[in-house]
Amino acid sequence: MPMTTRKPTTMTTTPRASQHFASLTFSGDVMLKRLPSNVSMLLQRTTKQGLSLDPAIANTVATAMKEWALEHGATHYCHWFQPLTGQTAEKHDAFLSPLNEGGAIEKFSGSALIQGEPDASSFPHGGIRDTYEARGYTAWDPTSPAFILKSGDVATLCIPTVFVSWTGEALDTKTPLLRSISAVNTQAMRILKLFGTDNGVQHVSATLGCEQEYFLIDSDLVAERDDLTICGRTVMGSPPPKGQQLEDHYFGSIPQRVLAYMADSEDQLFALGVPVKTRHNEVAPRQYELAPTFELANVACDHQMLTMHVLRSVAQSHGFTAILHEKPFARVNGSGKHNNWSISTDTGINLLDPRDDAHTNLEFATFLTAVIRAVDSHALLLRASIASAHNDHRLGANEAPPAIMSIYLGDMLTGLIDTLESGKSGKTPKSAEMDLGATTLPNIPKHSSDRNRTSPFAFTGNKFEFRAVGSSANCAWPATVLNTIIAESFDWVATEIAKAAGKGPTAAKFETAVRSVLRDVVKKHRRVCFDGDGYGEAWHKEAAKRGLPNLRSTVEALPSLDSKETKALFAKYEVLNARELHARYEVQLEQYTKLVVIEAKTMLSMGRTQVLPAAIRAQSELADAVGGTIAAGVDCADSMVALKALVGEVTLLRKALAELETTIKGVSGSALASAQSVRATVVPAMERVRSSCDFIETQIPADLWPMPTYVDMLLMRS
Ligand code: ADP
Ligand code: MG
Repeated sequence: MPMTTRKPTTMTTTPRASQHFASLTFSGDVMLKRLPSNVSMLLQRTTKQGLSLDPAIANTVATAMKEWALEHGATHYCHWFQPLTGQTAEKHDAFLSPLNEGGAIEKFSGSALIQGEPDASSFPHGGIRDTYEARGYTAWDPTSPAFILKSGDVATLCIPTVFVSWTGEALDTKTPLLRSISAVNTQAMRILKLFGTDNGVQHVSATLGCEQEYFLIDSDLVAERDDLTICGRTVMGSPPPKGQQLEDHYFGSIPQRVLAYMADSEDQLFALGVPVKTRHNEVAPRQYELAPTFELANVACDHQMLTMHVLRSVAQSHGFTAILHEKPFARVNGSGKHNNWSISTDTGINLLDPRDDAHTNLEFATFLTAVIRAVDSHALLLRASIASAHNDHRLGANEAPPAIMSIYLGDMLTGLIDTLESGKSGKTPKSAEMDLGATTLPNIPKHSSDRNRTSPFAFTGNKFEFRAVGSSANCAWPATVLNTIIAESFDWVATEIAKAAGKGPTAAKFETAVRSVLRDVVKKHRRVCFDGDGYGEAWHKEAAKRGLPNLRSTVEALPSLDSKETKALFAKYEVLNARELHARYEVQLEQYTKLVVIEAKTMLSMGRTQVLPAAIRAQSELADAVGGTIAAGVDCADSMVALKALVGEVTLLRKALAELETTIKGVSGSALASAQSVRATVVPAMERVRSSCDFIETQIPADLWPMPTYVDMLLMRS
């Protein structure tokens, strides 16, 4: 029975029109122009409504794609996929095939479009494949547009695909993402049906818009630092006297060189179909941000991977290195990737938009409370979805949301859940106007709620912003987890409402049933809602009192991927079977260990071959000076103190380096045991080395310091 009236809100799924760029994506007008209308209609049914693809159209699509790609100078095509490395992968095949009778012909068949066969054993598989079991398949994802990637003069047609093993098990991030989107669709449709608002709606999908933060550092300086070059972050470096304390960089005017880089990146991204929209300076010196208009989650995730690729590759031609690491510079803000997430119908209705009637819009309240329930019930899993060695430096470091999963609702929605809990009626505050005091200034509208940048999961008007995702992460995994826990919660809520309402309820009985279910959910789960300062110590205490988990490191967070509950959850919604899930758990543990060990080895080598020799040179200069001064019969007690201090620090550094080497050698055992040993021994040993190196940096002559400093990299050039 219809209880609410809804007006569609616009959702952009196509990039901003741009006059001067030839589109390099096979979608929209390009597709319509090149495909017979019945074929493009069938293809659109798949992309828009999630219906399965008719394989009979593959040959026609392949031929049209090939002709279009050849016109753009493409010589090769590739299946473009996202293995568990967290990166993208591609294997190129030439269109040109030799003919028996001599000569060659440009070929691209429907079967080559639909399926490819890369070696599955050379990618991380977490035990799903043995090395001798090599077969793996890529399969076309028609819901994400193919595109032409240009690198210099070379153009390649890229076809987004999933990547599965010979057994059909997922070896990538896209397969479970697509499955999780289906799960959201199924369960959200049940809620719409209950409310009688499913008319004309064929499909509900998750929408995603990912803001990307990054640093731009001059490439010549990066080349002089092994740590930045190899690990993407500095493992040593004393803090600059001026960091972000003056708050003068955030939204500051964008330097000309940086702007030229941004414009160039945006041009390329537009052409690739990525709807980039916003650019600005971020909080830290040399930190910037780019945000696109949101899209359907699957396409948004692919576009996010392309965004990272373009940001990195365009930087090179501008003399920059784009650093996407979560924490490239200690004591300077790190980078995140805010995943703005919502759910929308194919008719363009954002189901998390409360509009003006939030307090009477029970359907919105149902979706909202289901989200609250999901985040509270599955906090451990949500925490695990953003865990990485890189993100460990950021979460909870008084600049990024803490590792405690909580939800910011703002005043209006807090008022709404208050009324749901108390059963009293409430009123939605109307959007007010602000009088700015000066007669020449217009009154401006005031939002019904403030913002909170310290919350890991914040409601921002008509969507949630999952702020704890790391800047270098592949968004597909956090989005998959979010979709799956939401599907579970929608399922639970729909079932409870149906049970409470009974068959064919009157409108009044249905409303009573909904209110009673929502009241129980709010009572049980509102402990996860917190609007205060998430960075403060007080919240850590309060969260502990509320029983909310606070898993500070990846090693503590990942085991929830292997729990009985998580296995049951992913199996029930057919997102990942137990083997597929376990594989991800293993791969992520291994990745954690490998990343930290690579950093530790880099640090060991820089410490031994750069910092120690520099310190010893300084020591010898100082010793010469002390010797000469004493020989000249002049008192130099001060210099002797300084010399002793330096010698003492050199001794400490040598010892710390030896310890670090021992801890690296000590990493062994199962994936979990290795990761635990890295966390317990290698990470603290690295901290000791760093503290010695950073001290030495401040004590020795600048011309002896063997690498660019934080000041050189962050402050010296514009
Ligand atoms: P805000 O100022 O609240 O951050 P913006 O509208 O600038 O809002 O949005 C920030 C990001 O959120 C953008 O990438 C935007 O496209 C995305 N976004 C907006 N609405 C939605 C939605 N319904 N679903 C997913 N992402 C959204
Ligand atoms: Mg930001």
